Amino acid sequence: MTVRPILQIGDPALRRVARPVPDPRDVRDLIADLIDTMRDANGAGLAATQIGVDLRVCVIEVGDNPRYPYKPPIPLTVLINPELQPLTAETFENYEGCLSVPNLRGMVRRWVGVRVRALDAEGAPVDREVWGLSAGTFQHEVDHLDGKLFVDRVEDPTTFSSWASFDTFHRAAFVARAQALVRRFGS
Ligand code: ZN
Repeated sequence: MTVRPILQIGDPALRRVARPVPDPRDVRDLIADLIDTMRDANGAGLAATQIGVDLRVCVIEVGDNPRYPYKPPIPLTVLINPELQPLTAETFENYEGCLSVPNLRGMVRRWVGVRVRALDAEGAPVDREVWGLSAGTFQHEVDHLDGKLFVDRVEDPTTFSSWASFDTFHRAAFVARAQALVRRFGS
């Protein structure tokens, strides 16, 4: 098990556009490190750029997550060379946080449904739809591979909030909206 240091905002490596993986067999150790590091930090996902590797690999997993207790479960998902395509013009407002942006959350607009095409950890093709709150998680992780952080997408800077202020002032309203989304899409 190797828990790697997670780069923090301001590190130029987070702003690199990651390169496609030529051969999925070459990134097995990287995938194992991403999973270990994500779980150690209680993240809902982690992209290779966040541990300083500019390859297009990210992992996503949501179980009982103390950082995001309202998030519906997502089984461990490994995406190599992922591509996302919106499935509808509809968007929703997601109050996001990030392991690379300590103690800050902000409201970001995300597609309500995306088609995900990628390779999985074994190199097998993935082609599936993801809807609802989970679609936001996928978009957040793939953004990392393009050198983007959620703060870049915050349209209204007055929504920036520390985690403590989020709990005090914004959590109840957001969780109610998030739960409505989860009821509608089941994810
Ligand atoms: Zn992030």
